[in-house]
This record gives sequence, C-alpha cells and structure tokens, in this order.
Amino acid sequence: MRNKSVLSEAKQIQLASELIKLGARLQVLEANSNLSRERLVKLYKEITGVSPPKGMLPFSEDWFTSWQPNMHSSLFINIYKYLTSYTDTHGIEAVIKGYKLYLEHIEASQLDQVLSLTRAWTLVRFIDSKILSLAPCSQCAGDFVVHTLELHSRHVCGLCNIPSRAGKTKKYSQVIASETQQLSAA
Ligand SMILES: [Zn+2]
Repeated sequence: MRNKSVLSEAKQIQLASELIKLGARLQVLEANSNLSRERLVKLYKEITGVSPPKGMLPFSEDWFTSWQPNMHSSLFINIYKYLTSYTDTHGIEAVIKGYKLYLEHIEASQLDQVLSLTRAWTLVRFIDSKILSLAPCSQCAGDFVVHTLELHSRHVCGLCNIPSRAGKTKKYSQVIASETQQLSAA
C-alpha cells in the first residue's frame, strides 16, 4: 500500500471517477478498482453529492431478456463485442467506451435510456459466465441476448416479433433494428 505508485493511483481514481459519472454502483467500482471501499465512498460522495445506494445489486438475468431491455442490451453488447474484437480495448475500458457509444446512439435516436452502466457491466459478466449468450435472429440476422439454456437455431428477436402492447414503439424498434444490424454486419 505504501509503495503504491502515485501514477497508478491517479489512474485508479480517474477510472473510478469516470464510472461514477456514468452512474456506476459501488459494487462495480469495488470490482474494478484497487482503491479501498472508504476512498471509493468518499470519491462517490464528492462527485455525486450523495452517499452511494446501499444493498445488493438487484439484477437477475431475466431483466435482459424482457422486451424493451432486450433491445437496449443487445445494442450495447453488439457495440461491446465490436470494440473487443476489432480494437485493442477490453475489460472495463470496453464497457465504458461501449456504454458511451450506446448513450450516443440513444441520444441521436431520441430514445429513453433503458440500460444503466451497472446493468451493462452485469450483462458482460453474464455473457462471460455463459448464463446469457448472443443468438442471431432467424429473420433479421441481428444478434440478440438470450438465455444460454434457451439457445436455439430458430430464434426470432423482439423486433421481428413485436408484442402488440408495444405498438407505439414501432419507430423506436426500427431505429434499434438498424443499429444492431449494422453492428452485427460489421
Ligand atoms: Zn429479428
């Protein structure tokens, strides 16, 4: 601890600050930083003006496969996969970069932000641990997040099979469809 390089500590603080600004929960910071919990809490308070929310992360993998979250999760993970496959970005850096690009897409298309940074990070962990996977839609060929146990060759995504209650989101779905297909084709 005493010998820790100032430069590496500065990098750690910069990374944690960036994660906090993007809305990361404390658990995400702790998993991606060598800084002590006390310092992370202090940093969190300094940046946001409030204490970090307490308690466990509430996320189950089912969230990522429900209709609207699935569109956003699939968009993000396609960006993330692109970054880790075709650039030398990886790990938490790729999550941050991918998440910022996801936000840009959402903003440019005037869509609500559905996926939080903490959920994006959780999604990558579920994919890495093979709880969730990516499956190509048999109709549009875009890649979408599915339960690994439910992987099958005739997957039809939520955009090609829009639930009737999602009627007003037609335009919305077209935007996401074109984004995910462009990324999948890249
Ligand atoms: Zn489809």
